[in-house]
Amino acid sequence: MSMEIKTQRWVEQQVQWFIGLCKETGMKVTPQRVAIYRELAATDEHPSAEAIFNKIKTYFPNVSLTTVYRTLETFEGRGVISVVNTLYNAARWDAKTEQHNHLVCVSCKKVEDLYDDTSVNLELDNKKGFRVLGYNLLINGICKECQEMRS
Ligand SMILES: [Zn+2]
Ligand SMILES: [Zn+2]
Repeated sequence: MSMEIKTQRWVEQQVQWFIGLCKETGMKVTPQRVAIYRELAATDEHPSAEAIFNKIKTYFPNVSLTTVYRTLETFEGRGVISVVNTLYNAARWDAKTEQHNHLVCVSCKKVEDLYDDTSVNLELDNKKGFRVLGYNLLINGICKECQEMRS
Protein backbone atom coordinates (compact mmCIF):
# COMPACT_ATOMS: atom_id res chain seq x y z
CA MET A 1 0.00 0.00 0.00
CA SER A 2 3.00 2.26 0.03
CA MET A 3 3.66 4.19 -3.15
CA GLU A 4 0.79 2.93 -5.23
CA ILE A 5 -1.98 5.26 -6.31
CA LYS A 6 -4.81 5.10 -3.85
CA THR A 7 -7.97 3.78 -5.36
CA GLN A 8 -11.39 4.55 -3.97
CA ARG A 9 -11.72 0.87 -3.11
CA TRP A 10 -8.52 0.91 -1.09
CA VAL A 11 -9.67 3.99 0.79
CA GLU A 12 -12.99 2.35 1.64
CA GLN A 13 -11.17 -0.78 2.85
CA GLN A 14 -9.08 1.43 5.13
CA VAL A 15 -12.23 3.13 6.39
CA GLN A 16 -13.80 -0.25 7.17
CA TRP A 17 -10.64 -1.24 9.03
CA PHE A 18 -10.81 2.03 10.94
CA ILE A 19 -14.45 1.50 11.93
CA GLY A 20 -13.67 -2.03 13.08
CA LEU A 21 -10.75 -0.81 15.16
CA CYS A 22 -12.88 1.90 16.77
CA LYS A 23 -15.44 -0.69 17.81
CA GLU A 24 -12.74 -3.02 19.13
CA THR A 25 -11.07 -0.33 21.19
CA GLY A 26 -14.23 1.34 22.41
CA MET A 27 -13.67 4.53 20.46
CA LYS A 28 -16.87 6.24 19.39
CA VAL A 29 -17.61 6.02 15.67
CA THR A 30 -19.22 9.24 14.50
CA PRO A 31 -19.82 10.34 10.90
CA GLN A 32 -17.42 13.23 11.52
CA ARG A 33 -14.65 10.96 12.75
CA VAL A 34 -15.12 8.63 9.79
CA ALA A 35 -14.98 11.63 7.44
CA ILE A 36 -11.75 12.89 9.02
CA TYR A 37 -10.16 9.47 8.73
CA ARG A 38 -11.38 9.07 5.14
CA GLU A 39 -9.86 12.41 4.08
CA LEU A 40 -6.54 11.41 5.58
CA ALA A 41 -6.59 7.91 4.09
CA ALA A 42 -7.39 9.31 0.64
CA THR A 43 -4.25 11.44 0.34
CA ASP A 44 -0.49 11.02 0.28
CA GLU A 45 0.04 14.70 1.00
CA HIS A 46 0.40 14.39 4.79
CA PRO A 47 -2.13 17.16 5.37
CA SER A 48 -2.20 19.50 8.34
CA ALA A 49 -5.30 19.59 10.56
CA GLU A 50 -6.24 22.81 8.81
CA ALA A 51 -6.08 21.23 5.35
CA ILE A 52 -8.36 18.40 6.52
CA PHE A 53 -10.65 20.92 8.19
CA ASN A 54 -10.97 22.87 4.94
CA LYS A 55 -12.22 19.74 3.19
CA ILE A 56 -14.48 18.52 6.01
CA LYS A 57 -16.21 21.87 6.51
CA THR A 58 -17.66 21.76 2.99
CA TYR A 59 -19.92 18.90 4.09
CA PHE A 60 -19.82 19.28 7.90
CA PRO A 61 -20.24 23.06 8.18
CA ASN A 62 -20.48 22.94 11.97
CA VAL A 63 -17.17 21.23 12.57
CA SER A 64 -14.39 23.35 14.10
CA LEU A 65 -10.67 23.25 13.48
CA THR A 66 -10.16 22.43 17.15
CA THR A 67 -12.40 19.37 16.81
CA VAL A 68 -10.47 18.18 13.77
CA TYR A 69 -7.18 18.69 15.58
CA ARG A 70 -8.34 16.88 18.72
CA THR A 71 -9.76 14.03 16.66
CA LEU A 72 -6.42 13.58 14.88
CA GLU A 73 -4.64 13.59 18.25
CA THR A 74 -7.06 10.97 19.54
CA PHE A 75 -6.48 8.78 16.48
CA GLU A 76 -2.73 9.15 16.86
CA GLY A 77 -2.90 8.29 20.56
CA ARG A 78 -4.66 5.04 19.63
CA GLY A 79 -2.13 4.22 16.93
CA VAL A 80 -4.71 4.54 14.15
CA ILE A 81 -2.72 7.22 12.30
CA SER A 82 0.74 8.70 12.67
CA VAL A 83 2.06 12.20 12.97
CA VAL A 84 4.92 13.60 10.94
CA ASN A 85 6.74 16.24 12.92
CA THR A 86 8.04 18.72 10.45
CA LEU A 87 10.28 21.68 11.18
CA TYR A 88 7.28 23.94 10.94
CA ASN A 89 4.62 24.66 13.50
CA ALA A 90 1.76 22.70 12.00
CA ALA A 91 1.83 18.96 12.63
CA ARG A 92 1.28 16.91 9.49
CA TRP A 93 -0.75 13.71 9.62
CA ASP A 94 -0.43 10.34 7.93
CA ALA A 95 -2.89 7.45 7.66
CA LYS A 96 0.08 5.12 7.11
CA THR A 97 1.31 3.77 10.42
CA GLU A 98 3.98 1.37 9.18
CA GLN A 99 7.58 2.51 9.45
CA HIS A 100 8.65 4.86 6.69
CA ASN A 101 10.66 8.01 6.20
CA HIS A 102 9.77 11.47 4.93
CA LEU A 103 11.25 14.02 2.58
CA VAL A 104 10.28 17.55 3.61
CA CYS A 105 10.63 20.45 1.16
CA VAL A 106 11.79 23.53 3.08
CA SER A 107 10.39 25.75 0.33
CA CYS A 108 6.82 24.55 -0.39
CA LYS A 109 6.49 22.43 2.81
CA LYS A 110 5.55 19.36 0.79
CA VAL A 111 5.97 16.07 2.68
CA GLU A 112 6.69 12.97 0.62
CA ASP A 113 6.99 9.34 1.67
CA LEU A 114 10.32 7.61 1.36
CA TYR A 115 10.28 3.84 1.63
CA ASP A 116 13.78 3.24 0.38
CA ASP A 117 15.67 2.34 3.56
CA THR A 118 18.47 0.51 1.83
CA SER A 119 20.34 3.68 0.92
CA VAL A 120 20.43 4.81 4.52
CA ASN A 121 23.17 3.41 6.69
CA LEU A 122 23.07 4.78 10.20
CA GLU A 123 25.83 2.58 11.66
CA LEU A 124 24.48 3.33 15.11
CA ASP A 125 25.08 -0.23 16.24
CA ASN A 126 28.80 0.26 15.99
CA LYS A 127 29.15 3.88 17.00
CA LYS A 128 26.95 4.06 20.10
CA GLY A 129 26.47 0.41 21.05
CA PHE A 130 22.79 1.05 20.47
CA ARG A 131 20.68 -1.70 18.97
CA VAL A 132 18.58 -0.12 16.25
CA LEU A 133 15.03 -1.49 16.00
CA GLY A 134 13.79 1.05 13.51
CA TYR A 135 13.89 4.69 12.57
CA ASN A 136 11.78 7.44 11.08
CA LEU A 137 13.85 9.94 9.18
CA LEU A 138 12.82 13.46 8.28
CA ILE A 139 15.03 14.51 5.43
CA ASN A 140 14.92 18.23 4.69
CA GLY A 141 15.66 19.63 1.27
CA ILE A 142 14.21 21.27 -1.79
CA CYS A 143 11.82 19.29 -3.97
CA LYS A 144 12.23 18.89 -7.70
CA GLU A 145 9.40 21.31 -8.53
CA CYS A 146 10.87 24.04 -6.30
CA GLN A 147 14.34 23.54 -7.78
CA GLU A 148 12.93 23.93 -11.29
CA MET A 149 11.17 27.14 -10.30
CA ARG A 150 14.41 28.58 -8.93
CA SER A 151 16.53 27.84 -11.94
ZN1 LIG B 1 8.98 22.21 -2.83
ZN1 LIG C 1 4.18 9.24 5.29
